[in-house]
Amino acid sequence: MIIQPDWLVASGEEVSANTAVRVHDGVITHVAPPGELVAQFPDDEIVDASGCALLPGFVNSHVHLYGTLAHGIVIESPPTGFESFLDDYWWPQVEDRLDQEMIGAATEWVCAEMLRSGTTTFFDICEAPGALSGVLDVEADHASRAGMRGIFSFEATERSGQEIAERSLRENLDFIDAHQDDALISGAMSWHTVFTCSPQFIERAADEARVRSTWYHAHCNEGTHEGNWARENHGMDTMAFYRELGVADRSFLASQCVQMTDSELAIIADTGTRVSHMPLSNCEVGGGIAPIAELLAKGVTVGLGTDGYVNDMYEVMRGAFWLQKARLRDPSTLPAHSVLHMATEGGAQALGLDYLGRIEPGWTADLQLVNCDFPTPIDASTICDQLVLWRSGHHVRDVMVAGEWRVRNGEVLGVDVDRARRRVVEEASRLWGR
Ligand SMILES: [Zn+2]
Repeated sequence: MIIQPDWLVASGEEVSANTAVRVHDGVITHVAPPGELVAQFPDDEIVDASGCALLPGFVNSHVHLYGTLAHGIVIESPPTGFESFLDDYWWPQVEDRLDQEMIGAATEWVCAEMLRSGTTTFFDICEAPGALSGVLDVEADHASRAGMRGIFSFEATERSGQEIAERSLRENLDFIDAHQDDALISGAMSWHTVFTCSPQFIERAADEARVRSTWYHAHCNEGTHEGNWARENHGMDTMAFYRELGVADRSFLASQCVQMTDSELAIIADTGTRVSHMPLSNCEVGGGIAPIAELLAKGVTVGLGTDGYVNDMYEVMRGAFWLQKARLRDPSTLPAHSVLHMATEGGAQALGLDYLGRIEPGWTADLQLVNCDFPTPIDASTICDQLVLWRSGHHVRDVMVAGEWRVRNGEVLGVDVDRARRRVVEEASRLWGR
């Protein structure tokens, strides 16, 4: 097929008008003026996308699919800091109460929500000791039905005892092994943090991932707590500890990275550690604002994620765009095209996915068409600002994953959205104890 948009945003910095894109067998084969492509491929279906911009689909490089079940939850005693957020709220009232039915319902809903707002790929981290074993299969079933590209992991931790710790590692390994050859679904290794996992446990998790040629992930310094804990218990910063363990390298995705020392930023850059940035949820937990401009300046690969909090990547892009400027008191930092890059190609690189997140011949056809009915004229030099600042998920018209339409005219094709919503309401009520 030949898609003919008004504007093509091939990647953050490459924008052109009057350019069409040919998709064949799930891959972008040509990017050229529409007349040329139609003459060369007269039998192709023409997709009229006038009034729209064509962008790569978003890559949500960090989501907790179950997170949606806690949206609007009534908390008896609101958390007073990052530690209390986990100890008094998130662990006892959410994660430790989850079961597979709740997580399945949330997954179906969040997949629809992500597709509807232009996200085609995600990395999920599930932590729910009561949902072991097999919860990753439940999630992957729903993602497959929606037609999304998903990488799944279970957040292995020793906080709930050794039996759960072993089963959580096993959950990851079984899933990674079972999906080695799938086109859209795969697995990766996750552990929680240095304050919930022993050095031996972390080393084992990383070793098992390496044997399977996959990468590994952890939450890192989401607030000040983990860094302080690492210095008190291991005598060094979190990232220095990871380097000492031999896990800080190109296979490591460190999420959050909010409260970092200068030497930790240098370790990330020197070791090729990748980073996932979640500006909105960092605000939610009172964690702070991550030094993303500094990491990008050092050449670090950074993706954007929702953390399961606000799952519309347009909102997350705005958060990243504004917060760095406010933090550094510099309106020139993190321009819109850099934010778009993090939400697409940067995220794909953070997840180790090649040929994804850019519109170029030979790259995967994960695409979104966004309505461009702005109230001001559009210019190639400012369209990225227009998209980042004045679009939201509901402006997304069509979404394609690997060459297959998954959203047409704002309608999610593979999910009964009304039924899915009713199911999440039911399961959330059960979680909340109502
Ligand atoms: Zn998270």
